[in-house]
Amino acid sequence: MIWDVDNEAMPLEKLKELQGGRLRTIIKKVYDKVEFYRKKMDAANVKPEDIRSISDLSKLPFTTKDEMRDVYPYGLLTVDLNDIVEIHTSSGTTGKPVVDAYTQGDIDLWSEVMARTLSMGGVTKKDVVQNAYGYGLFTGGLGAHYGIKRTGATCIPISGGNTKRQLEVMQDFGATVLCCTPSYALYIAEAGREAGIDFRMLNLEKGFFGAEPWSESMREEIQEKLSIRAYDIFGLTEIIGPGVAAECELQNMLHVFEDHFFPEIINPKTGEPVPDGEKGELVFTTLTKEGTPIIRYRTRDITFLNREPCSCGRTLVRMHRLLGRTDDMLIVRGVNIFPSQVEQVLIKMEGVEPHYQIVVEKRGSLDCLEIQVEMTENMGSDLLGDIETKEKEIESKLRDVLLVNSKVNLVPPKTIPRSEGKAKRIIDKRNLSS
Ligand code: ADP
Ligand code: ZN
Repeated sequence: MIWDVDNEAMPLEKLKELQGGRLRTIIKKVYDKVEFYRKKMDAANVKPEDIRSISDLSKLPFTTKDEMRDVYPYGLLTVDLNDIVEIHTSSGTTGKPVVDAYTQGDIDLWSEVMARTLSMGGVTKKDVVQNAYGYGLFTGGLGAHYGIKRTGATCIPISGGNTKRQLEVMQDFGATVLCCTPSYALYIAEAGREAGIDFRMLNLEKGFFGAEPWSESMREEIQEKLSIRAYDIFGLTEIIGPGVAAECELQNMLHVFEDHFFPEIINPKTGEPVPDGEKGELVFTTLTKEGTPIIRYRTRDITFLNREPCSCGRTLVRMHRLLGRTDDMLIVRGVNIFPSQVEQVLIKMEGVEPHYQIVVEKRGSLDCLEIQVEMTENMGSDLLGDIETKEKEIESKLRDVLLVNSKVNLVPPKTIPRSEGKAKRIIDKRNLSS
């Protein structure tokens, strides 16, 4: 079933017109109301009148995450704070978090795009949905919550964690749908198997998984172990949260809700748009968001667009599941991690060098983070039996900054390979391409 057939299966000409009209309106609005955008457009010598159709978008300057941080917390608001009814932020592990401030209209939009997302996989009012995305400032929990309610399904707002309870609730309430990160889905599957649960006997039929990269083989594993159909869903705080793009029942790339969030793919080095089908950095412009509209936001996510018609009947463009990132951000158990954060911790500590390597691998279904850190020459001989204490101390400091646990291994001086160019800080052993 198509949730909003008028908008999801609109003839392409009409869609372009709609997008063009919405773009004109939003550009005029941000130019009038937001100093940040006015300055940028003036510097680029573009006036709102220059933007007439969606193809004029490329005349506008990009917006980056760093710029958004500079105007934290309210610098991008186009409405009065009185008209904001809810605020969410990115996790903020890498500095000031990015803020998304929602008007009631934005919450309605969010509910709609998440209802579309769930309907794509066949959720109806008959379903009982276990929402194990985290509730709070993170967009996952409440975004899914609003969408579930909009479809008329029954929402179980259990939030993340407490796996034993997840399994009980799943059985007791007869959940038919599970929403969480893909790694947590696998974790639930494994914990269930250990507890002797046969998922084929439960009511669970489908799951909507996103917020972190996962692979086709991981999908197969989840589908097999939980005995469900697993759908990839995509979104980011800057744009609205989850509900930006999602797979339909064909599970063949994610339809982008381009009547609201217009995607472009650019060459990350030159900033030039690349043709459909070619890989590059994903850029989004919000066409209808009221509180904090974003113009040409560089996501740093790598993918490509496919405009071939999809047999589900939707005309919305599809994007391939994410293929990587342009920066060195790692996503570990749904949390964004940058090598620079590790560096900041090590630099302040005695006895260790800021020479390190981050190794991520899958143990069972969970991402495990191991950090190799070099001792200083002195420390190597002084520490002797105390290596373990030092490792624990570093682990605890890292945990405060990264918000996920890691295992620290102190290694002898000069054993971490040096590089002439950009240091290879990350060894990602999770196979995401298969
Ligand atoms: P934070 O983690 O900082 O709070 P977000 O939750 O907004 O921020 O994270 C958004 C990012 O998460 C996206 O830019 C993308 O890199 C990643 N992401 C979200 N959904 C998916 C998905 N389905 N597949 C791969 N990566 C995803
Ligand atoms: Zn489709």
